[in-house]
Amino acid sequence: MPATPSETPAVDGVGAVDRPHPVQFFNTMGRAVMPFTPLDGDHVRMYTCGPTVYNHVHIGNLRTFVFEDLLCRTLRFLGYRVTQVMNLTDVDDKTIRGASEANLPLDDFTATYIDSFFNDLDTLQVVRADHYPRATRHIDDMITMIETLVAKEHAYVSDDGSVFFRIASDDDYGRLAGIDPSGLRQGERVASDEYDKESVRDFVLWKAAKDGEPSWNSPWGAGRPGWHIECSAMSVAYLGNSFDIHGGGVDLIFPHHENEIAQTESATGEPFVHTWLHSEHLIVDGAKMSKSLGNQYTLKDLIARGVRPRVLRYLFLQTHYRQKLNFTFDSLGAAAAALRRVDALRHRLGHAPEAADARPAVGEAAETLLREVADALADDLGVPNALAAVFNYVKAINRAIDAGDGPQGLGAGDRQRALDAFDAVDVAFGVFRAEDWPASDGEASDGAGDDGLSDADIDGLLAERQTARAARDFARADEIRVQLTEAGIVIADTPDGPRWRRGD
Ligand code: AMP
Ligand code: ZN
Repeated sequence: MPATPSETPAVDGVGAVDRPHPVQFFNTMGRAVMPFTPLDGDHVRMYTCGPTVYNHVHIGNLRTFVFEDLLCRTLRFLGYRVTQVMNLTDVDDKTIRGASEANLPLDDFTATYIDSFFNDLDTLQVVRADHYPRATRHIDDMITMIETLVAKEHAYVSDDGSVFFRIASDDDYGRLAGIDPSGLRQGERVASDEYDKESVRDFVLWKAAKDGEPSWNSPWGAGRPGWHIECSAMSVAYLGNSFDIHGGGVDLIFPHHENEIAQTESATGEPFVHTWLHSEHLIVDGAKMSKSLGNQYTLKDLIARGVRPRVLRYLFLQTHYRQKLNFTFDSLGAAAAALRRVDALRHRLGHAPEAADARPAVGEAAETLLREVADALADDLGVPNALAAVFNYVKAINRAIDAGDGPQGLGAGDRQRALDAFDAVDVAFGVFRAEDWPASDGEASDGAGDDGLSDADIDGLLAERQTARAARDFARADEIRVQLTEAGIVIADTPDGPRWRRGD
């Protein structure tokens, strides 16, 4: 089931957090934390660059998509209305190459990866965007924008019927990426969609058709759009000439987003985007993911190795979006342990008897949780502080139950009050309610906090892992490691073989 946007539930007896709550973000444009005010009341219009659907997305892409999900959810949690648009790049150099190698029509080739992408979003409980426009369905919008650019002499047609953006016509070029325009090589051109800062040149808006490639008719003859114009045309089509937030991974700052600004502002004459948010990359075991290193995992790869999507979502959320996220199998252990602590409390809450009077401690803790999570997330998505507030809350509620009358207890209405506060903050996190996840994912939802593995089980699994490694069956070895670390077992590989202890 796709997750759906939800309102922050009212929490009975808990003072309201100011809504909409003031927010500040680190704006790549200007490189500083700045107050954020939507252009249109409490309505945030936001565009995020979606996947290029030539491949199954990898966990790096998913880190970025989960960051963007956290951003939308947080804005809703803080009382804003959000319209989110995410494009699908279903025509560019890579998709065309892939379709040609697979000997398939472009749409048939990309269909597999579009399905796979939505599947991954659902698995990680990413709330669906309002629109997922596909580039191939908006070619007319792109042609219209390019015509405007040509008419305004921001673009020119080359001999073969391609169209290029004239960088020298844009005084502001380089503002986002911090490029000094005096170093630009005017008049020289670059035709590929991706290039680095060393090759800043006039870039391509429309590529004349090559034999065997998909093409569309245009005023300049048959051809297809360049990658950058796709996002300019689609974002303006859905959100208007000026909107609030544009997001993506840091690799998109240059040239993609720089070029989007140049094209759109030159075409519309209006400021394009107010706030640019970019998330740092995910790396694996300290290294950049790459096919050749064999460390480029998809979500399905990790699930096949026993990783639970809920634990992965928590792991993604845990690291602040402007820091590199180093994925290791070991780091799943701490993520799973954190979720177990929450699950154990929610389980305990469900069973603790209620005495006659409400305990002020519970209401106070709930209020503190909502206030601290709102303040932390409103400060440039300060997840580390927000999670600290969650775990202080877990401690406070456990303490309140311990201090109750009789064997253990809560006051009237406290159970609901305590759970409602969790539900309220989970509008932003989307990870704390085990019951929202498939049974296999909510494994710890009985809350016992017990990994269920005996010492002999652990010794047996470690022995099996050694055998698997010796047989170079690294998939099985990883699977065992995940099972153990998620169960809270800390493994240290020593010259005398693996040692283990139970973590917390
Ligand atoms: P692409 O399909 O390559 O256009 O990428 C889709 C999204 O994933 C973009 O926002 C990229 O910036 C982002 N992305 C690509 N590689 C990584 C990575 N290793 N870590 C985090 N985000 C990434
Ligand atoms: Zn884009």
